[in-house]
Amino acid sequence: MLNKQGRPTRPAGTESDGENRQTRPTFTGNRALQLEEPLIFEVGRTDITGVDLAEPDEFASRLGGHGRTAPIGLPALSEPEAMRHYVRLSQKNYAIDMGLYPLGSCTMKHNPRLNEQVARLPGFADIHPLQPQSTVQGALALIHELGHWLVTITGMHSVAMSPKAGAHGELCGMMAIKAALSAAGKTPKKVLVPVSAHGTNPATAALLGYSVVDVPARADGTVAVDDVKKLIAEHEGDIAAIMLTNPNTCGLFEPQISEIAEAVHEAGGYFYCDGANLNAIMGKTRPGDLGVDAMHINLHKTFSTPHGGGGPGAGPVVLSEALAPFAPLPFVEKDGETYRLVEHEHDDGGSHPFGRMTAFHGQMGMFVRAFAWMLSHGSDGMRQASEDAVLNANYIRAGLADLMSLPFPDHPSMHEVLFDDTFLKDTGVSTLDFAKAMIDEGYHPMTMYFPLVVHGAMLIEPTESESRASLDLFIATMRDLVMAAKSGDQSDRFTGAPHFAPRKRLDETLAARSPVLKWTPPEPYEEAAE
Ligand SMILES: *Cc1c(COP(=O)(O)O)cnc(C)c1O
Repeated sequence: MLNKQGRPTRPAGTESDGENRQTRPTFTGNRALQLEEPLIFEVGRTDITGVDLAEPDEFASRLGGHGRTAPIGLPALSEPEAMRHYVRLSQKNYAIDMGLYPLGSCTMKHNPRLNEQVARLPGFADIHPLQPQSTVQGALALIHELGHWLVTITGMHSVAMSPKAGAHGELCGMMAIKAALSAAGKTPKKVLVPVSAHGTNPATAALLGYSVVDVPARADGTVAVDDVKKLIAEHEGDIAAIMLTNPNTCGLFEPQISEIAEAVHEAGGYFYCDGANLNAIMGKTRPGDLGVDAMHINLHKTFSTPHGGGGPGAGPVVLSEALAPFAPLPFVEKDGETYRLVEHEHDDGGSHPFGRMTAFHGQMGMFVRAFAWMLSHGSDGMRQASEDAVLNANYIRAGLADLMSLPFPDHPSMHEVLFDDTFLKDTGVSTLDFAKAMIDEGYHPMTMYFPLVVHGAMLIEPTESESRASLDLFIATMRDLVMAAKSGDQSDRFTGAPHFAPRKRLDETLAARSPVLKWTPPEPYEEAAE
C-alpha cells in the first residue's frame, strides 16, 4: 500500500507470509513499541497554526516587491503532536545512550551529564557573541584555559580554537601551513598522504589546490620513512606537507613518526598530524615531541562532547611555534587579569593571521563540555582514559582473534582493533551481511570497509566508557555470529538482515546520489481521483 506521497505505508518485508507471526503486518504499520512516523508535513495541517498570533498592525513593506505572495505552507501541530513526532523520530536513532557504539575512528564515548549541566549555565548558554567583552569575561577565560590545556596535553606552542569540526581543523592547519610557506616565498604544489588516511585528509589538501601524492602502507599497516624519503626525492622541492594520522586508522602507532617528521622538515615541508585519534595517546605521548607542526583535536571525540548526525563538533588546531603567527582570527589573549578576543591583526608585525575560519569564536557549548570533562578527570584521569581505551580495544582483540582475522597481528592495537574479512571467506556472508546481522542483535555495526588498505575492513573502537560486562556481551555476540557464519546452516541470519529493524536494507547509494530534499504537496484528492 502506498501513501499520498507514493511511499510504502509498511516497512518492506512485513507483508504477511501467512505463517510467520513475526513478519505479519500490523494494522497500524507499527511493530510493537517501534512506531511508524510520517513526515511532519504529512501529520501537520497547513491551514491552522499551533500558536495564536495577533494580526499585525498596518505596516509598509520594505521588501521592495520581494514579499511572499503565496501562503508559506508550514505544517502546524499541537504541542502533544509536535512532542510525539520528534520523540518518535529520536527513537529511530541508535545512540551511545542506548548501547555500545563501536564505530572505529569515531570515538563514540559516553557524554557525561555533568557536562550538559555546566553547558546550560546561563553565563555560558545565554550569552551572545556580539556582547561587550567586559560582560563575557568568564566565557573568554574558559576558552583561554581550555586552549592552555590542549596546548599542554599535546606539547605544542599555541592553539586556534575556532574550527568547528575535525575536517574544518584540517583546513585551518593546512591554511596556516600554506600561509607560512607563502610568507617564505615558497609555493610547493604537493602534499603527501598515506593511503590509510581518513578521506578528509586528501580532500583538505585538494581543496587548497594541492595535488595529493599517495604514500603506500607497509605490509604491517604502518608508514615507512624510506617510502616517504623516496617520494620526497621524486618530487624534490615540491612537497608542502605530509598529512599523517597517529595512531593511524589501522589502530597502530606509527613507529617511525619522528623520522618521518625529520625527513619532511629537511625537505622544507611541514608535518600535519590528523589528531582525531588522540584518545589513544592523551597523557602518554605529546605530539609536539614527535615533530608535529599542526594537529586538529576533535573535542567531540576525545573530550566526550556529543556527536553524530551532523551535530555540532569542535576541532581546535594546535600549532608549532613556526606556524603560530599564521593562526586565524579571532583568538583570546590574557592581558593582566582581563581577557580579550583579538578580532583584528596586531600592528606589532609579529602575527600574520591567514584570515578567519568562522564568523565568531567557535563552538562555545562544546568548549564548556570539553572543559568540564577535563576538570572532572584531571590529568591522571585523562591518562587513565587513554589507558582504558587501549585496554578495552585489546580486550576485544584478544576475545575475537581466534575466530576473526587480524591483518596486522604483529603490532599491538591502540584504541581500536582492525579485522578484515578473511574469516568470512567461502561462507557466502559478506562484511555488509555480517554488519547488518549485528543490528538484529541490537548493536550499531563497527566501521566497515575503512581503512581501504585491507579487504573488507571492520574497525572496532569500544572507547574507555564500556564496562567489562558490556565488552563480554559484545564479544560473546560477535563469536556467536562468526560461528553461525562459518557453520553455513544459519545463512538466513545474514541474508536480508536486519530482520527485526523497522527498515531493512536501504539503497544507500541512491539516497546519497539522489537525495529527495524537497517535500511536494500531494495533489488534492479530487484531482487525483479524476
Ligand atoms: C573523525 C575523523 C576526522 C574528521 O572529523 P570530523 O569532525 O568528522 O570532521 C578526520 N580524521 C580522522 C582520522 C577521524 O577519525
